Amino acid sequence: MSAHIFVVEDEKPIQTLLRYNLEKEGFKVSSSENGEEALSLIKEKKPDLILLDWMLPDLSGIKICQYLKHDKKVKDIPIIMLTAKGEEEDKVKGLESGAEDYLTKPFSFPELLARIKAMLRRVKPTVVNEEIIYLDLKVDRVAMKVYRQNKEVSLGPKEFKLLDFLITQPKRVYSREQLLEQVWGEDINVESRTVDVHITRLRQAINIDGSKPLIRTVRSAGYSLEN
Ligand code: CA
Repeated sequence: MSAHIFVVEDEKPIQTLLRYNLEKEGFKVSSSENGEEALSLIKEKKPDLILLDWMLPDLSGIKICQYLKHDKKVKDIPIIMLTAKGEEEDKVKGLESGAEDYLTKPFSFPELLARIKAMLRRVKPTVVNEEIIYLDLKVDRVAMKVYRQNKEVSLGPKEFKLLDFLITQPKRVYSREQLLEQVWGEDINVESRTVDVHITRLRQAINIDGSKPLIRTVRSAGYSLEN
């Protein structure tokens, strides 16, 4: 699964454990230990889902939740609240502040994972699909393999990530900057020209005799996956 999860948790051991387990499941993970920083990072990174601790040193989880749900750029990102408080009243407060789900500590990781997957399936089906097919192209996200016309295509890791991203929304044009952000992430030393290099490699790799070119260059805009 290639979804990006943002963890807001001030207890370092829990944060580390969550990060370790989520990354093992294939998620991209960002995190913060305090509320103010979390708010600005979430607006900047726009993750697919937020795990939010209730008790933080500066802002409470409830306040963060309220801020996020009133900001139209991030209000659709689902929030799962994590808290040591198990009382019914707190659960109601958490859900009233806009959180989509609520989990009481201590919880098991499989339980949390099940909630995360269920949530993503609801709000972002494309990131949970383990296999995505577009025309004669298939991306198997579990095995990290790509097939064209049922034949396996060998791709480098960056080309795989590029294709895996483009195929989530065929026909949508992405700028080089957007592709850089998605595929190279926080590596700021990469130039946008690098995207062109990897797009060229990807094109060559998925080009099979007689097959249609599936990656379109949109002048001065970027690239899209389409017929
Ligand atoms: Ca805490």
